[in-house]
Amino acid sequence: MRILVLGAGFGGLELTTRLSDELGHDVDIVLIDKADEFVFGFSKLDVMFGRAMPETVRHSYRDLVKPGVRFTQSTIRSIDPVRRRVNTDAGAFEADVMVVALGADLDPAATPGLVEAGREFYTMDGAFGTRDVLDSFTGGRVIIGVTSTPFKCPPAPSETALMLHDFLVGRGLRGTSEISLVMPLGAPIPPSPTASAALLEAFAERGISWYPDRLVQGLDPRRGVVSLANGESMPFDLFLGVPVHRVPAVVAESGMCVDGWIPVNPLTLQTAYPDVYAVGDVTSVGTPKAGVFSERQASVVADQLIARHRQAGAAATYDGTGICYIEFGHDRVARVEVTFRSGQRPDGQFDEPSDLLRADKAEFGTSRIRRWFGREWTSY
Ligand SMILES: Cc1cc2nc3c(=O)[nH]c(=O)nc-3n(C[C@H](O)[C@H](O)[C@H](O)COP(=O)(O)OP(=O)(O)OC[C@H]3O[C@@H](n4cnc5c(N)ncnc54)[C@H](O)[C@@H]3O)c2cc1C
Repeated sequence: MRILVLGAGFGGLELTTRLSDELGHDVDIVLIDKADEFVFGFSKLDVMFGRAMPETVRHSYRDLVKPGVRFTQSTIRSIDPVRRRVNTDAGAFEADVMVVALGADLDPAATPGLVEAGREFYTMDGAFGTRDVLDSFTGGRVIIGVTSTPFKCPPAPSETALMLHDFLVGRGLRGTSEISLVMPLGAPIPPSPTASAALLEAFAERGISWYPDRLVQGLDPRRGVVSLANGESMPFDLFLGVPVHRVPAVVAESGMCVDGWIPVNPLTLQTAYPDVYAVGDVTSVGTPKAGVFSERQASVVADQLIARHRQAGAAATYDGTGICYIEFGHDRVARVEVTFRSGQRPDGQFDEPSDLLRADKAEFGTSRIRRWFGREWTSY
């Protein structure tokens, strides 16, 4: 079986690792990514707040040596889902099965004034660059705001507010600073009322102002204000923004999207095209856009391809479950486990912040890098 995996993020790395571990040279896998390295989303926050150096969180695809897998660093220019064929800067590739794991692209320029007057902290450059901005910050009104839905890792803006609080306390700047969190959601983590209540309590304890159900529409660099979709405006000295998310242009042009994202069968991750699957942030599968969900979806696709190769009958289907670790400040981490099933209310369980869960989160990163890249690493 020739398998083409588009994108070497959470989904692509998990899929190719599972296939290689189970089938080795029995399959011919081509994994394509335009980047030369993988970086965890949570590492962006670690770098931004000075907990890690940029060079320690980069995982080079050079270390990706797996039986049956050929990694190609190249930009995908077009996707033909009918022929399961892509054109890239390194030539054309065709396969029996294609898996699209190209994630969500970020478009800071889509929000008026964000590039000129604010900072986005969702791209690698944005987060790493914000570290310098925070280093030279002397205090004032900070707004953390979201500019569109859906957005990756819904807890990340809340984590940013709590980590920023600690950062400013450490610098002796908290007394002269305000932190406001502006979110388009009614609760910090809507599927988990317990996690949301714990976060709201943590905000209140630290004097972080919480503005629910509000979307940032733009920044006015001249007046130094953020305009919200409901007509309100808020003055700021430092704006930290979550930029607009959309599928990569090459996916939009492939004709695979409906309402902006690739629809898939929520149990099998199959798209409308035979032998074409899609996993993770690029889909509208109904789970939040987070690495843990991409990874589990990729694993389900791997199960199906392994079963098909072995002619072993039906494989496991996707259950919509994911575990997210949440930075709660004071170097403690909480955990929320949520299951999303189509047509049902999401069901979540929350574990209070602790040092133990901080160790669990570190192990989460360590175990992925060990499995995907075959080397030892620790996040902090
Ligand atoms: C600040 C922050 C914190 C986060 N924290 C967490 C967390 O704690 N836990 C968690 O689970 N998730 C977290 N996330 C979310 C997580 O990073 C993403 O949801 C996850 O990476 C999505 O995985 P994916 O495989 O769908 O896509 P991605 O990991 O985004 O991978 C897509 C890949 O496709 C490649 N690509 C795109 N277009 C092309 C093209 N045209 N040609 C070639 N290659 C291309 C990209 O280079 C990329 O490597 C966080 C995100 C952010 C921004």
